[in-house]
Amino acid sequence: MIKVGVNGYGTIGKRVADAVRAQPDMTLVGVAKTRPNYEAEAAVRKGYPLYAAIPERSDRFRRAGIDLAGEVDDLVIGSDVIVDTTPSGIGAENRALYEQYDTPAIFQGGESADVADVSFNARASYEAAEGADFVRVVSCNTTGLSRLLAPLREEYGVEKARVTLIRRGGDPGQVDRGPINDILPDPVTVPSHHGPDVNTIFPDLDIDTVGVKVPATLMHLHSVNVTLGESPDADDVKALLDAESRLFLVPDEARIDGTGKLKEFAMDTGRPRGDLWENCIWEESISTVGDDLYLFQSIHQESDVIPENVDAIRAIAGRESRADSMATTDERLGVGLESLFRGPRQRVVPADD
Ligand code: NAD
Repeated sequence: MIKVGVNGYGTIGKRVADAVRAQPDMTLVGVAKTRPNYEAEAAVRKGYPLYAAIPERSDRFRRAGIDLAGEVDDLVIGSDVIVDTTPSGIGAENRALYEQYDTPAIFQGGESADVADVSFNARASYEAAEGADFVRVVSCNTTGLSRLLAPLREEYGVEKARVTLIRRGGDPGQVDRGPINDILPDPVTVPSHHGPDVNTIFPDLDIDTVGVKVPATLMHLHSVNVTLGESPDADDVKALLDAESRLFLVPDEARIDGTGKLKEFAMDTGRPRGDLWENCIWEESISTVGDDLYLFQSIHQESDVIPENVDAIRAIAGRESRADSMATTDERLGVGLESLFRGPRQRVVPADD
């Protein structure tokens, strides 16, 4: 069993902890938190051992009636791999702690690429992370673009990718984020940071990205144009993308017209927290004009990186091949959303024990 600790128990950390607990080859050693808030209570209710992320604050947990299993150093010492899910910039500060105890660590996309030896997307760069000490799972948007571009590159070659990212202003719980009534070029300069971040996965890819921020919390929407090395039919592209477990082609018959109904679909079908781990690509949007491919895809920012973190743990531990790890992760979480309108595969919820 791979012993996994999660440092930082917020939006990403709590999902990673649940995903680790669902894996047959992993044990969740515990989670480190800075304060005894509602998320700490939820962790206790789930039976997750809780560690004080900031040792001087241990008393706050005791005063709140929450028993601690130890301090963050104990969590790092007791883990084979740490998943650092602290806010952007804190992960880089924590790296020295992991080095001190020779514990390999996984950082998140809010950190700059040089925090780790390798940037990670399971579909595209699993092998590069095998046996590495420090790995960075790229951001939600970069994850979504990497998953889409990997099969396109392999099948047709990509001459140039141009993507407009229409980004949610904040996560549902982020009350200090915006805009609340505006549409912002963000950044107003071109390219946005996303293109260079995709280049940490595909260094030779020609990609330009621009960003817009809108008053929404549910998901991001990407307007994608890829100039391919060939001129395939749209149906061929649909078949190619449909074969990828982490790409969900949203069928026209489902009458899902936007991210609101996508989230409703996830909740109605029993997904934990209404999470959508897959890229959601509107099937009808997949169009080709000569060698140009166009499509819209939505990315659930809070959850698409979760399967990737699980695979990164196995890559670091050197236990499984890419295909085996992705298959196990998908099976245990229930990744591979398919509409009932599309045949027999209908897995939408986690596998039973
Ligand atoms: P978050 O604020 O929801 O959670 C971070 C947690 O870490 C909070 O509970 C915070 O109290 C805790 N924390 C703060 N300082 C700490 C410390 N020193 N030690 C331990 N814990 C500490 O943030 P998040 O959205 O989960 O983001 C975490 C990382 O994941 C960032 O790098 C972010 O860029 C990346 N990411 C976020 C999203 C998203 O949409 N939320 C998507 C992909 C990647």
